[in-house]
Amino acid sequence: MGILSLINKDVKAENESKKVIIALRVMYITVLIAFAIDLALAGVEAWMASGIKILIFVSANILLFVSTYFCKTRTASVLFMLFLYFWIINFIPVFGWSAGLQNYFIIILLVCFFGSYGKPVYKFITSGFVLVIRIIIIMLFGKVESIVAHSLLVDKLMQIANISAVFLAIIYISYTFSKDEKEAEEKLMKYNDRLKKEANTDRLTGLSNRRRAIEYLDEMISEQNGSPISVAMGDIDFFKKVNDTYGHDIGDVVLKEVAALMTRMCTDAFVARWGGEEFLIIYKDHNGDEAFVKLEELRRAIQRMSITACGHEIKITMTFGLSEYDFEKDGETAIKEADDRLYQGKENGRNQVVY
Ligand code: GH3
Ligand code: MG
Ligand code: MG
Repeated sequence: MGILSLINKDVKAENESKKVIIALRVMYITVLIAFAIDLALAGVEAWMASGIKILIFVSANILLFVSTYFCKTRTASVLFMLFLYFWIINFIPVFGWSAGLQNYFIIILLVCFFGSYGKPVYKFITSGFVLVIRIIIIMLFGKVESIVAHSLLVDKLMQIANISAVFLAIIYISYTFSKDEKEAEEKLMKYNDRLKKEANTDRLTGLSNRRRAIEYLDEMISEQNGSPISVAMGDIDFFKKVNDTYGHDIGDVVLKEVAALMTRMCTDAFVARWGGEEFLIIYKDHNGDEAFVKLEELRRAIQRMSITACGHEIKITMTFGLSEYDFEKDGETAIKEADDRLYQGKENGRNQVVY
């Protein structure tokens, strides 16, 4: 198993995102590398002077790294913060104040904010606690010299190693979390779009549903610029007989075929399934006479259409009521007028457009 797949291994808890744990693993490795550099720079005398501490530190680093494969995210974050406290408090006296270990407090702050999903108030309390410890450390160790005297150059190199480790950790955490947020946002936007589409679509036919139809008509009316709008309500004739004769499933096939034909033919109009076997058509930029011509074409095409389902040849007809939208009234009135005319058509013998 490569080091990358080892770091990327998922967390134990199924409901937790692995990004925090991965960040912790990366930081354990980063701190260990910085520590190794500090130690190499400090020389053998530092080893001699603080052998036990070094042993404890390395063992703790390895054990805690391994524990990230078993612990919950929150526990792992707390353990990492304790580990950093241990690192800072124990090794400032070894490497000296100027080695810059106190900078690791910034990582503790980041882990505190990104490491768990707890209430913000706890995060602020923990941050306050971090600040207090940081101040105490200034009191205790400010200007403390390293156990073993070393040159100014070594001092500077140590500082560079530690501040680089801190910067890398900050960059890594900031990048991972900002990237994730963006991904989550994009995912959410896609999900919202899908929900919106589903909320506006009729499942059976794939046409817009009644909700969307009302919304669309209102949109057309509100942005109208004097050009006419016509509204038609269509209903399949004797559809109950289709269901009774061939069954509900074949009735569904008929509805889908009718919807498909309407979509193909009404390319410059908006078609919706109003409910059951009723369809609403909104003709933008068409006055009643123009819409009438189009509707007649559609009605004749439906009459000619032959639907094959489960070996049956089914023929149907449709009746339409048409109304030109009157700018003095509202959309609802236009729909009501179209509906009234549809029923006139039914009474007059069906398979016709009433305008
Ligand atoms: P009319 O010519 O007067 O419109 O007669 P009709 O039989 O078409 O009208 P009616 O209102 O009596 O019957 C409509 C039928 O449409 C009844 C209902 O079961 C059927 N229906 C409504 N929605 C669906 C559906 O989603 N699938 C199927 N298969 N049938 C449906
Ligand atoms: Mg009907
Ligand atoms: Mg009906």
